Amino acid sequence: MRVEGRDRKIAGDLLAHYDVHARRLPWRVPPGSNGADPYRVWLSEVMLQQTTVAAVGPYYTKFTERWPTVEALADAADADLMAAWAGLGYYARARNLLACARAVAREHGGRFPDTEEGLRALPGVGAYTAAAVAAIAFGRRAVVVDANVERVVARLFAIATPLPAARAEIRAAAERITPDTRAGDFAQAMMDLGATVCTPRKPACGVCPLREDCAAFATADPAAFPVKAPNKAKPHRSGHGWWMERDGHVWLVRRPDRGMLGGMRALPSSDWSDAPDPAPPMAGDWRTVGEPVLHIFTHFSLALRVHHAHVEAAPAGEGEWWPVDRIGEAGLPTLFARAAEAVRKDRDARN
Ligand code: SF4
Repeated sequence: MRVEGRDRKIAGDLLAHYDVHARRLPWRVPPGSNGADPYRVWLSEVMLQQTTVAAVGPYYTKFTERWPTVEALADAADADLMAAWAGLGYYARARNLLACARAVAREHGGRFPDTEEGLRALPGVGAYTAAAVAAIAFGRRAVVVDANVERVVARLFAIATPLPAARAEIRAAAERITPDTRAGDFAQAMMDLGATVCTPRKPACGVCPLREDCAAFATADPAAFPVKAPNKAKPHRSGHGWWMERDGHVWLVRRPDRGMLGGMRALPSSDWSDAPDPAPPMAGDWRTVGEPVLHIFTHFSLALRVHHAHVEAAPAGEGEWWPVDRIGEAGLPTLFARAAEAVRKDRDARN
């Protein structure tokens, strides 16, 4: 359905709504103002990928206090940054963050490129992040489509093609409604509408500034859009993790840079194939925690069997003894932080 002037009206109505209802977020500047700091916009957009605003808030504050500029971040030690990122998940983002900060600091004199194309050339910066930074920090007309925007656009135009095949159609429709001016405000207004009004299960059409022009609102069930292809079940894997303790210290290793949780501190663990139970790394009074730690990754779920023992010496290979009473400061990713907690509870229950 294409209505003359409708595309422009959608942008105007949405921006008027945004002027009054914009969410106040630590990385935002008020509606209508220029001058968002590209470093902060970029940092927030990287953190927000696959992660909620509520979860990102404290990390964003911690990062900007500790590393207030892209140059400061570029000078961070890899291990410090990975530890500060621990718990936020999707750790490849942290490695890319550092690579990108170093490229901006060392190859661009500390200034982010101000075009989508220039931003795309930075390490780890994909189409979405480049568009978001170009629009929000530099006021460039750029089409910014995240999951929230995808949903709003699919509903506005009642796009019947299932995802992911619908992506090209959604993008073309988003392109049509993106205004020539205030592209950054428009992008953020679309994100806000998706997050607060046009929510996945129960869109609040009654308070939506776009309902007059919304094709899904004219149907009996706006929440039926975007249409989704049936879910494929995630594969399930299992693995083993070993807590080796000596004199109040636990043996931690650093995971290889490439691969799951790359570069993060961790308990030694088996690979996560469904191979038969492997032998522990060394002799000790091994005990196994009753229930495995369950964790959902993007492409599979994992049940980690956790074993713990007191040992007499360090196992073979590289690692470090970390004080058990400061395990919360080790920067363990969530899977291993939960394994550590499982060991603590298991020991409490046995004592
Ligand atoms: S009218 Fe309803 S379905 Fe349409 S954009 Fe607004 S909240 Fe979403």
